[in-house]
Amino acid sequence: ERKQLHRLRREPTRTLDGVDIRLWANAESREDVAEAHALGAAGVGLYRTEFLFMQRPADARMTLPDEDEQFRAYRDLVLGMTGRTVTIRTLDIGADKADGTALALPGEPNPAMGLRGVRLSLARDALFRTQLRAILRASAYGPVRVLIPMVSGREEVIAVRARIKDVQRELRTEGFAIAESLPVGAMIEVPSAAIALQTFIGDVDFLSIGTNDLVQYLLAADRNNDALGELYSPLHPAVLRLIHGVIRAARTHDKPVAVCGEMAGDPLFAPVLLALGLEEFSLHPGTLLELRRAIRSFDLAWLRARSASLLRARDSASIQRWLAQATG
Ligand code: PEP
Ligand code: MG
Repeated sequence: ERKQLHRLRREPTRTLDGVDIRLWANAESREDVAEAHALGAAGVGLYRTEFLFMQRPADARMTLPDEDEQFRAYRDLVLGMTGRTVTIRTLDIGADKADGTALALPGEPNPAMGLRGVRLSLARDALFRTQLRAILRASAYGPVRVLIPMVSGREEVIAVRARIKDVQRELRTEGFAIAESLPVGAMIEVPSAAIALQTFIGDVDFLSIGTNDLVQYLLAADRNNDALGELYSPLHPAVLRLIHGVIRAARTHDKPVAVCGEMAGDPLFAPVLLALGLEEFSLHPGTLLELRRAIRSFDLAWLRARSASLLRARDSASIQRWLAQATG
């Protein structure tokens, strides 16, 4: 069984009816990057940079990674993927994760809805510029895209693009070699961004749906609260409709879209995402081969022909029944 899975390392992620699905890796460490590369990931779809800030060496615990330290980490990521695209997410940290770091964020009663992600980056200009400089400098070594976390609307995308433009100009003046262009994408994980996607889709180059937070905010269900049990689940009609709308808008505007939350890494949910039109998944390399195996067992046209019935489901039990049929 393990051996059979191992054999899939060199196989394409192709459905029974011959459609290639793109599997990106979520990565947070050197090991993840090496594994992603070995398993034939299309690239890194989500590099969570907060780990550089949270997991400091003992002698540097109360410092922040400076531009050079970040640059080296991003450059090594790029080089590790040998020409495959890497997607670097800007700092997604808030009061809940900043404890024990040098960020010194004031405590908040409700960190999930507080100053985090792109909101913090825009509020801390020096911190953000340092990170953008490091990312842009790494872009000289291979294809890099930048991904903005916790986007709630158009203003943030515009503000980030302006900062990037500034920093690009600054680096060129200083004589750094940087990539000609840096594709900018938005995480779709705040419901307002999903609902009002039309207002800013023209301002981004790609999208990545963060179902971990999207489910949390859409269902008002804390992603870390076990007491909520079944309530925190992507198999809710509201979640599926919203994901479907995002994928459709992306297709209309010819923008690549992936799902990078845990939902994408669970082979059980693959038929749902395929039926909704998804063609790019980003997941931890640990389950990449299992997902590849699952995808290779589906007929995409057959699943897509059943998307209407999936979207008509009125509760999670009906969605579960749809899934049982799809996989049975
Ligand atoms: C998400 O919210 O789905 C996501 C991928 O980001 P994180 O889990 O880091 O919040
Ligand atoms: Mg998130």
